[in-house]
Amino acid sequence: TERTFIAVKPDGVQRALFPEVLRRFSQKGFKLVGIKLTFAKEELLREHYSDLQSKPFFPSLLSYMMSGPVLATVWEGKDVVKQGRALLGATNPLQSAPGTIRGDFALDMGRNIIHGSDSVESAEKEIALWFKKDELV
Ligand code: ATP
Ligand code: MG
Repeated sequence: TERTFIAVKPDGVQRALFPEVLRRFSQKGFKLVGIKLTFAKEELLREHYSDLQSKPFFPSLLSYMMSGPVLATVWEGKDVVKQGRALLGATNPLQSAPGTIRGDFALDMGRNIIHGSDSVESAEKEIALWFKKDELV
């Protein structure tokens, strides 16, 4: 079955939005197969966001992601990568519809409370990056 990597970012953890995130993914029908609260290291984040290295906002993205603990999770289920992105809503808060997680809880692109893998390939890469095999159910 398909798996995806979903992370509640430091602002989402600080605002105690993670129970809401877990509830939404569970109620949609997905199975939680990995979860941990962790401080992301710079090296891990550089790998995680390697496609964004050249962006002007990259340094602020790194410091944002290291501003507190991240709740890293892995979910399993039918079409979970695409369905997960739909539950998150668009990256730009002006385009994230009410009813989505970002649409309901985020106002700024630079503080958008949650990450979700954007393809099956990046999901596999990100799960391997954030979790050891024996940390997954
Ligand atoms: P994520 O990968 O975190 O799920 P995404 O796939 O919707 O988000 P990406 O293009 O991968 O969007 O960008 C990764 C993150 O970088 C965004 O979630 C956001 O926090 C930050 N970001 C993206 N674009 C901008 C921007 N123009 N200005 C500031 N921050 C940005
Ligand atoms: Mg992305």
